[in-house]
This record gives sequence, structure tokens and C-alpha cells, in this order.
Amino acid sequence: MAFNVTQIREDFPILKREVNGKPLVYLDNAATSQKPKQVIDSIVDYYSLYNSNIHRGVHTLSQEATDAYEASRKKIQKHFNISRSHEVIFTSGTTHGINLVANGFTSFLKEGDEVLVSAMEHHSNIVPWQMLCERSGAVMKVIPMSEEGTLLLDEYDQLLSDRTKLVFVNHISNSLGTINPVDIIIEKAHQVGAAVLVDGAQSCSHIKPDLQALDVDFYVTSAHKMCGPTGIGMLYGKESWLQKLPPYQGGGEMIAEVTFEKTTFADLPHKFEAGTPNIAGGIAFGTAIDYLNEIGFNAIAGHEQELLTYATEELLKVPGLKIYGTGREKTSVISFNLEDIHPYDVGTILDKLGIAVRTGHHCTQPIMDFYKIPGTVRASFAFYNTKEEVDILVEGVRKAQMMLS
Ligand SMILES: *Cc1c(COP(=O)(O)O)cnc(C)c1O
Repeated sequence: MAFNVTQIREDFPILKREVNGKPLVYLDNAATSQKPKQVIDSIVDYYSLYNSNIHRGVHTLSQEATDAYEASRKKIQKHFNISRSHEVIFTSGTTHGINLVANGFTSFLKEGDEVLVSAMEHHSNIVPWQMLCERSGAVMKVIPMSEEGTLLLDEYDQLLSDRTKLVFVNHISNSLGTINPVDIIIEKAHQVGAAVLVDGAQSCSHIKPDLQALDVDFYVTSAHKMCGPTGIGMLYGKESWLQKLPPYQGGGEMIAEVTFEKTTFADLPHKFEAGTPNIAGGIAFGTAIDYLNEIGFNAIAGHEQELLTYATEELLKVPGLKIYGTGREKTSVISFNLEDIHPYDVGTILDKLGIAVRTGHHCTQPIMDFYKIPGTVRASFAFYNTKEEVDILVEGVRKAQMMLS
């Protein structure tokens, strides 16, 4: 099937709306993607046709809901090339997945142990580990980055030692778009016996990671950045790790047997899935994965790279515009500033023109500190964006510059 962006846009009802009297130009995909009608329909179908709790009832609706939810787990398994479906844990999103692992590691770490984090992490992949360090006495060290926004792997080599127990790094930076060489990072960590968690929140809308090939210990992502709903995500963990990790939350669904004296926990994946989950979200997550695969990740990446190249060239023609994140391996995220103009002011003017971009620190304050800036304007493109929208953005940026300087 040839990639046809006009036809693809028909799937997204929201792209037809206007904002401030102008057609919406949605360029905040790194914060959350829009949803195709297929995904919206699957949520509506669940609530309209077979809404019921899962894993509990013998009645037909409950069976249908359970089957659909578990079928979605299998889709996720297949999509990420995960060997066993019980290594797929449904979470409420990336943040939940990271906290689950960080909490579980408390008793595995002791004083003097070290954990390594990259300089370009989302706060979600910093704060839970800081809390872990406080509980366990482990020390956090930072893998530094270059001016271009790429990780310094030689420095990483220097930081690794037999004290290193855990490494956590994002696959793709949400602020810079940098694609990190996670395969090398994982291999080197394993050489010193450290486990690796990869934050895939930003990658799964652009690429299709093969988790067995990566040999990663934990991989987390959120459905809402890959055309799925909010409030649902997945944690992949190697079976051996998930067996060892204690449950994160107690409650229904996650137990084998309960008495007031003692509880035994359910098998994987249920051990980590306490309480009634986001059933509609879990089902629609599977629909989103089907949708993306139907378009195809090669086609998605091809179109997005075209947008990235075009937008980068056009934006750099604006005098005084500086782009942050200029590594060779990057996805369709462009963080930039106009000399001396606050990003918030640029974002406000763009909004008046119907253009949605993100302004601020993008939950990555350490990156902003590195560049000594308060924040950036971030335009992030998805496969449903067009070259015409890039033109509208560039024109808007020029207008903002004229009005503000
Ligand atoms: C969005 C994002 C997160 C947080 O995801 P939630 O869905 O808010 O839990 C973490 N890391 C990166 C790189 C992100 O882009």
C-alpha cells in the first residue's frame, strides 16, 4: 500500500477542526499523538457492546472482554517480538512502568551500588530512581552528552564498573529527538552484570523495537504517544526479572490465595496487575498497534524523515533560529529558540495561528540547564503531518519573530 498522507488524515477526526479560526496544525506529537477513528471506535464498541470486568465472570460479556484484552496483550507481544506473553505487563503508562521497576529494585540494591542515568532523560526516568537511591543508599551517576545532544559513549565506558547495577536511558529523547544507541548501551551494561531499563515512550511511534534482539531487561512505553488512548501502557520485563521483582501494588487480580495470615501472589503477568485495569484502553492499545502496522513503520519513518529534513532546512533559514539536538540519528522532533525571545511567547503567537507546539522544558530540566536556556519551542511531527504544515509553521515562526523583536 503506497503511503498517502491525504488519505491517512481522513482517519483522524480531530485534524478537521479549527483553532482560533485557523485549521489546526498539530505539531505536539511528542506530548501525545492524535487518535484515528479505528482506535476511537474500539473504545466505543467496548462500552457499547461488551463492557464487563475481565478475568472474573463466567458470563458471556466477561468472556468477550477478557478475550479482547488478552488478544491485545498478544498483539503487543508480537509487535515487540517478546518471547512470552506473560512478560507483557499492562500499566497505566511509562511513568507507572518505571515506578514499578524502581520500587521492585529497593531490596536488590545496597550502599555503594551505582545506577547510571543519561543526561537527556525525561523526569519520569530520573525521579523514581532518585527515590530508589534514597531508599537503598545507591548512588546515581550521569552519562554526559555532547553539544549536539548525543550521549558520550566513552564517558559511559568510564562510568561502568562492577558497582553498576542498573542503567536507564531513553530510546529516543523527547526534547531533542536523538535516537540513542541502546543496543551498544545494553551490551556494555551486561558485560559488567548491570540490568538495563529502556524508556520507549518516545520511540514506539517512530520505530518498531525488537526486544529480543535488543536483549533489554525492561522496556516501557505509553499507548497515547502511538495513536492509542491515555492511561494505558506496557512494561516488558524478562521473565527472570519479573519473577524476582516483588509486586508493586496489592489488591484484587494479583493474588493466588488470601487469608488474614498470608497471601500468595498470582503468576505473571497478574502479579503486577492489581485491581480492575483500563480495559477499554488495553483493547484500544491493540487496535492502535494494528493501525500503525497497517501503514507500516518503514512508510512512517520515511515520511517523518522527509518532514524532519524539510522542516530543519526551512527553519534554519529564519535568521537567529537555533536548533537544539543536531545529532545524525534523530526523529522528527525539532527543539528551537529564536534569539532572546522567550519560547512561551513564540508558542502563544503560534497558537493564535492554529499551530500547536510545545514550549517549556518538556519534563527535561537537566537538558535545559545543559544548554543554559529556560526552555525551547518544540515542533514534533507525526506521519499524518504534511509539508504544507511545515510551511505554515515556518511562516508562523517568522511572524512571531517580527512581532516580538
Ligand atoms: C512522555 C514521556 C514519558 C512519560 O510518559 P507518560 O505517558 O507521561 O507516563 C517518559 N519518557 C519519555 C521519553 C517521554 O517522552
